[in-house]
Amino acid sequence: MLNILVVEDEPFLKTIMFTMLSEVGICTWKQDGRSAVEEFKSALYSANPYDLITLDIMMPEMDGKEALKKIREIEENYGITEGAYTKIIMTSAIQDEATIFDSYYQGCEQYLIKPILKTDLLQKIKDLELI
Ligand SMILES: [Mg+2]
Repeated sequence: MLNILVVEDEPFLKTIMFTMLSEVGICTWKQDGRSAVEEFKSALYSANPYDLITLDIMMPEMDGKEALKKIREIEENYGITEGAYTKIIMTSAIQDEATIFDSYYQGCEQYLIKPILKTDLLQKIKDLELI
């Protein structure tokens, strides 16, 4: 089973994500970017890093764009090589090209536009060779 961090400020959408991911992983939920970055860091430092993060963009405290940047910085500072980074799938209703391009530029592996279908989500995870 994968160790998955679901970052989503909307509780209803979090529940859907947990249900869709239940057959491939154990999920942990964080509701904003700041607490997600803290959780990511503490998991990494306790040698139990996440295999996958689904990261919403529009969230309070710290948005998904900022959280993505911080997570990649933490990995770089920790000495992880780029190929071994935790896989990150952005999950957002935002579908403008600039945001999508910027997300890939900042280092996400995949980008899914809401509403997210289970088949698409699992296909992305397969594409990332996690399952
Ligand atoms: Mg949101």
